[in-house]
Amino acid sequence: MIVTNAFSGKLSEESKQNWLSYWKHFSDREYGYCAERNCTKEHHHGVLVTQSSICQRALFVVPLCKEHSNSFISQLEIDDGASIVPTELSL
Ligand SMILES: [Zn+2]
Repeated sequence: MIVTNAFSGKLSEESKQNWLSYWKHFSDREYGYCAERNCTKEHHHGVLVTQSSICQRALFVVPLCKEHSNSFISQLEIDDGASIVPTELSL
């Protein structure tokens, strides 16, 4: 599935780490890898995206490796088995 970067790479390193912690807290899977379709690296960052086929306005957190989070400008194809977590859940 294709996701769109909600902040065009403007998230700070610290907030990407925080979003990854958030993702780990709510993800129902022990999926330790980058969500990019063909990537087998471990995730390092949580990145905020939108997904138009689910809901145009909602923000979701997707786990990505450093390389993919740093090169993710507009759109990215993520693995259909990767879990994406909505940001409205409360801690
Ligand atoms: Zn990756």
